[in-house]
Amino acid sequence: MRTQCPECDSWINVPRSLELWDTFSCPRCHTELQLIDDNPVEVDYADTDDDDDFDFDDDDDDDYY
Ligand SMILES: [Zn+2]
Repeated sequence: MRTQCPECDSWINVPRSLELWDTFSCPRCHTELQLIDDNPVEVDYADTDDDDDFDFDDDDDDDYY
């Protein structure tokens, strides 16, 4: 299976063992990609979980005596 990288347009050999939604990186530009369809093979940018939405305001300032 071969497909083109959406980032650098190079041809990538996709191993048959790769399953749908598996992620891999482009050997040329190292962009994280994800197999979104396997017939025909289609890849897209992988979902990267880097939203740092941690708003933990957990300081227990008990200011009463
Ligand atoms: Zn690439």
